[in-house]
Amino acid sequence: MNQCKSILEITHISVKDIRFHTSKNNTGSDARSKDPDYSCIYIQVYTTDPQIIGIGTVFTLGRGNSGVHAIVKEQLRHIRGLSLDYIITNFNALWRNIVNDGQLCWNGPEKGMLHQANAGIINALWDIWAKYENKPVWKLIVDLPPDKLINTLNFDHIEDAITKDEALHILEAVDKKQTDTNIGYPVYLTCGWSGYSNEKLTTILQQSLKQGITGYKMKVGNNIENDCKKAEFIRDIISYDNMLSMDANGVWNKEEAITNMNKLKQYKPYWIEEPTHPDDIISHIDITKSIYPIKVATGEQCSNKVLFKQFIQNKGLSIVQTDIQRLAGINEWFVVMLMCKKYNIPFCLHSGGIGLVNLGVHLCMIDYMCISQSTEGRYAEYIDELTEHYKYPVQLENGKYKPPKSLGFGVELKEESILEYEFPNGKYWITTYGKKVIKDKEWVL
Ligand SMILES: [Mg+2]
Repeated sequence: MNQCKSILEITHISVKDIRFHTSKNNTGSDARSKDPDYSCIYIQVYTTDPQIIGIGTVFTLGRGNSGVHAIVKEQLRHIRGLSLDYIITNFNALWRNIVNDGQLCWNGPEKGMLHQANAGIINALWDIWAKYENKPVWKLIVDLPPDKLINTLNFDHIEDAITKDEALHILEAVDKKQTDTNIGYPVYLTCGWSGYSNEKLTTILQQSLKQGITGYKMKVGNNIENDCKKAEFIRDIISYDNMLSMDANGVWNKEEAITNMNKLKQYKPYWIEEPTHPDDIISHIDITKSIYPIKVATGEQCSNKVLFKQFIQNKGLSIVQTDIQRLAGINEWFVVMLMCKKYNIPFCLHSGGIGLVNLGVHLCMIDYMCISQSTEGRYAEYIDELTEHYKYPVQLENGKYKPPKSLGFGVELKEESILEYEFPNGKYWITTYGKKVIKDKEWVL
């Protein structure tokens, strides 16, 4: 730790409700979410150093912000007034306290809005730590000695899959000198949203191919004949030289998933994502066996490390897709990655939404530098919508993520975007729905 600076303490915290009106143009639409408004709860943790403000984000599809907002405000009691030194020294105990809040645990435990709210708060603490060290989050973690890093992680309820000692051994066995810090991390573009026209899709695909992007994902699950037509349409543009994956967003039952993937396999998908209900481990096991060699990917709605443990141990997936705003921060994400390493399961980042792309680039670098040391068969999700609202948008080069250089997670929204889209009093929402609607709280969204 940088010893030259004075003790850093949390002074106060701001929580904002930010909503973008993406349902207007079908961005984010899929078989389950027809009208998502990409939104986030935006947490700003102020400290005794005015230059260091920890940012945490919690992604929702619009109205979900209301519930998360209320929970975040309740959970802030766990971090108010803490010093960074205390957070670093006691991170595992602090994580456990936040996750197991004595009253709110009934609203979880370790799942749903409560766990999402916890993720936003905990990621804001990592953001403070990295900014204090003048580093991006990925570099902070890469530079941490294994014995210090391991003490931030929590192994409750997963020690039958991986012990703390095994995890430490994995971290100590990594030779970071063998990895290239300038590596580009392969991305895939989620392009075929359910509501997009063929004309719009063609433009997006042609532009992305010119950018050097080699991976693509389309949404399926509305109508299998239409899904086949769309797959053929996309393959005609991207050819079979590029990776195509598919995402059903959990709408099929087991038999539908197997039947439909047998129809779609002619388009050679690399994976099918969330082929059925995200909690249905047994059906995932059956689907994984039945549609081999197509891989089954899941995890964006996997609530916690215990559920991941069961998917991984029972071969209910062949690609892990963690979501850093659903798992409770890096502390929990990291132990899932260590299980992946032990059980030899590749990681393809779930991203998109608000904040997820910016946070996710750090996870790719951490996985590559500290755990897997490989990008083979791995693709990180890339969505280029709404990037204009970030101070530090992610950078692509030749279709690959460049390691971020901004301090912390680099997830800061621009001030003008916050003023425009804060709900319900941002300029956009007042202009769109009028003051009367806002005043009466008859939300149209
Ligand atoms: Mg998905």
